[in-house]
Amino acid sequence: MTQTAPLAFTQHLTVNPKSAAERDAVLANPGFGDHFTDHTAVVDYKVGADGQGGWGNARVEPYGPIAMDPAAAVLHYGQEIFEGLKAYRHADGSVWSFRPEANAARFNTSARRLALPELPEETFIESLRQLVAADQDWVPSGDGEALYLRPFMIATEAFLGVRPAREVSYRVIASPAGNYFGGELQPVSIWLSTAYARAGEGGTGEAKCGGNYAASLAAQMEAEAQGCKQVLFLDPFNDNAIEELGGMNIFFVFKDGRLVTPALNGHILHGITRSSVMQLAADRGLKVQERKITIDEWREGVASGEITEAFACGTAAVITPIGELKTAEGTIASPGSGAGEVTMAIREQLLGIQTGVVEDLHGWLTRL
Ligand code: PMP
Repeated sequence: MTQTAPLAFTQHLTVNPKSAAERDAVLANPGFGDHFTDHTAVVDYKVGADGQGGWGNARVEPYGPIAMDPAAAVLHYGQEIFEGLKAYRHADGSVWSFRPEANAARFNTSARRLALPELPEETFIESLRQLVAADQDWVPSGDGEALYLRPFMIATEAFLGVRPAREVSYRVIASPAGNYFGGELQPVSIWLSTAYARAGEGGTGEAKCGGNYAASLAAQMEAEAQGCKQVLFLDPFNDNAIEELGGMNIFFVFKDGRLVTPALNGHILHGITRSSVMQLAADRGLKVQERKITIDEWREGVASGEITEAFACGTAAVITPIGELKTAEGTIASPGSGAGEVTMAIREQLLGIQTGVVEDLHGWLTRL
């Protein structure tokens, strides 16, 4: 995409921010996704009488409810997309994001699939910068903590015909975040969903749209009833090939130095952590393979000792070892405690780059 100047944002700061005591109480125990900062960034899109669409009125305004017509298209047909990335505070107090241009590009891929307008990448990154400037006191500095940024785009036009909306709103909210699964890092148990699929050929699996996550919730409830934190989805039309978790990609470490992850087949999310892990693994001399891997291969690989580790990865949970996969036909338990050596080494390195204690050799950080 050609470089253009981002839209200029005006800052309308709140006259009623949360008190320092309230903010400190949140930062002392951020959890995940429960608390929000004082501001939101907004950009509006409208198609004019000439049929041309354009973005405008870029602003930072106080965080609060969105007034919307009950007929707004997003409320009926789910024309919505989102992103998720983090802002990290480094030791010198500066705030950095990790590969935000990749999120901007993926946002536009999602926009095209959901017939939403693309947002210029420079404006996407500028919106993050503007929001973090207004809410910088909300960026935590504790171990494993960050400010989670949630850009999203919704169809706000009021009409009930099924067609792409001509009025759209882009927004960013922010939420201080600790460990996604709560408490100290521990291997997670995941549930194999066979009753539900997440995506299919030609569907929206590669887009980050709300509907994909709504569709995953019934499976997530099943997982929780089994004492599991996440769901693994398969491709039932392709030998039950492993796809991904509800909100994370998956990797397998083999004894012979291979690192295997399901190939991007058009219905797996192009995880930015996934692509970073592949690069870091290759840098370490692991042989990275993107290919089809089935549940049978996982089960047999663990039984024969060939597969030594499995882990999940994504922005929210970084890299989390998989302790076991529960299925209707029994459990595949990872060897040892599940927190394998390769998993933990890559996790340390990735977190180190993000938090500024390991050199950023790939130029992945952008200062906000
Ligand atoms: N798969 C799904 C379905 C997700 O929601 C996410 C989180 N965005 C991921 C994978 C991981 O993507 P990323 O590493 O870019 O956060």
